Amino acid sequence: MDRRHFLKLTLCGSAAVPAIWLFTGQRSDAEASTAASPIVFNQLGYLPNAPKLFTLREQSATFSVRAVGGGTVLVGKPGASVEDSASGDHVQVCDVTPLRQPGSYTFETDVVKSAPFEIGADAYRHALWLTMRSYYGQRCGCNVDLGGGYSHPACHLSAEFHKSSGRTGPSKNHGGWHDAGDYGRYVVNSGISTGTLLWAWELSNSAVRKIDLKIPESGGKIPDFLAEIRWNLDWMLTLQDEDGGVWHKQTSENFCGFVMPQDDRLASYIIGTGSTPYKSTCATADLASVAAIAARCYGPYDDSYAKKCADAAKRAFAWAVKNPDIIFKNPEGIRTGEYGNADCRDELLWAAAELWRTTGDEQYRKAFESGIAYLRTEGGLSIKTPGWNQLSALAFWTYAMSDRKNASPQLLAQIRESSAQAAEALAQNSRQNGYGNTLSLSDYVWGSNCVAANQSLQLIVADHLQKKDEFRQAAAENLHYLVGRNCWDISWVTQLGRRPFEHPHHRPSGADNIPAPWPGLLSGGPNARPADPPGRFMAQRPPMQMYRDDQAAFSMNEIAINWNAPLVFLLAALNNE
Ligand SMILES: [Zn+2]
Repeated sequence: MDRRHFLKLTLCGSAAVPAIWLFTGQRSDAEASTAASPIVFNQLGYLPNAPKLFTLREQSATFSVRAVGGGTVLVGKPGASVEDSASGDHVQVCDVTPLRQPGSYTFETDVVKSAPFEIGADAYRHALWLTMRSYYGQRCGCNVDLGGGYSHPACHLSAEFHKSSGRTGPSKNHGGWHDAGDYGRYVVNSGISTGTLLWAWELSNSAVRKIDLKIPESGGKIPDFLAEIRWNLDWMLTLQDEDGGVWHKQTSENFCGFVMPQDDRLASYIIGTGSTPYKSTCATADLASVAAIAARCYGPYDDSYAKKCADAAKRAFAWAVKNPDIIFKNPEGIRTGEYGNADCRDELLWAAAELWRTTGDEQYRKAFESGIAYLRTEGGLSIKTPGWNQLSALAFWTYAMSDRKNASPQLLAQIRESSAQAAEALAQNSRQNGYGNTLSLSDYVWGSNCVAANQSLQLIVADHLQKKDEFRQAAAENLHYLVGRNCWDISWVTQLGRRPFEHPHHRPSGADNIPAPWPGLLSGGPNARPADPPGRFMAQRPPMQMYRDDQAAFSMNEIAINWNAPLVFLLAALNNE
């Protein structure tokens, strides 16, 4: 009997667990395209000249690659069998890199035949479009229509000041992007999301400058990529008070049920810290950073908007310097996302560095250079992968990318060197991991897929600062992991790849009566310590296996604007080549 006609049902199972083989008879193409496979790779395909490493979960002495409709084009030997500690799987890595001819292929051993995979210069173009366009789907306060039934009328058009904000009565705030699976909007998380996307605009401009997102602003004077970001930026700017401080968030008191956004009738509040000065340091410094970047990006298209952003950034920074430790905690009666952070020094550093890069004003350079003392280590500087509450690396990198003449040469050299060392450690992880990602075992936290994407951002910036192909290659390995080369043979982006996940913790996807979820959204992914009801009933297994494609699994399968942003950044970089 030909074992190709059996489906193995122990995907992600330990090698010690006996395999269960299910006889399926002659497998149809449809079955072949949806069943999990023991050979996993990027389901979007590969760029012609890029490394192409596949992971084989069934031992084999040889492999071959066959052109679809043609003959064998490559024969090779898998690498030695190794245990991948993140999954517990015993795997062999197969190197298909020599194959560079664009086309459609299958991968085969004596027991495995893969679904077709593509090699082509456009392999990631649609993915960039879809993941960026997902922000249009997250828009609050306007009609949204992505096509295919993914639409809703304008939502959350009225707002009022919560008593914790220091004000009372109605407010005019609406707009922005729904943060995640919920309908809240949070300045802190908007900060890194919007900043990351604007960095993609600056670093990978040729990939995004002309992208046609088919949004209401398409065809206008501002490129679509910037127009979409502006939707959220405009909302962030409305959260700035007259004194320059920025309220932390705009949400209801509790999360609403799984309803469409226009059916969420809970009052939308501007929420503050509950006591004077009511605004929070981290949110204010985050707005300062993002508005400073925006002043650079929008200047060529809308001078008055750029000036408005620069002015908002300066006023926000001045407020945050005057109020450096106003920490936000949810006030009584508020149970939505907190995005609390007890240390806003890194937010202030990022703001100072972005403002200096934008304006050249010496006060910002001095604030940055004097503020980094706590990040000095014996060997250089502490470079930490960015996250919503960890922005110091963005501060270092924007200082290094400023091209301003009065930057300290010693500090520039330290930033380059320390960034390269941190990137080298990630590249080393990629070489050791059976599925090629750069994650350490401790990185399988809530939103681990975002950690992987942000490690790619880190690698791409390190490559930008100190040209090294291996950094860029390791960055691409995380894309391969996120969209197929993982122990689940899954694409963690909705409607992308052969086997995309299907049940995000995302209210519109759950409430719209359309079977497939809204497109282009990245799942949070495996979480070694899940906090949701499905996760709490899972037996503890190796961390990559701690995942469920379940709408209720908010700690493993939610989506979020700050998770998609580094993925867009990565896809823009790969499309920029
Ligand atoms: Zn809304």
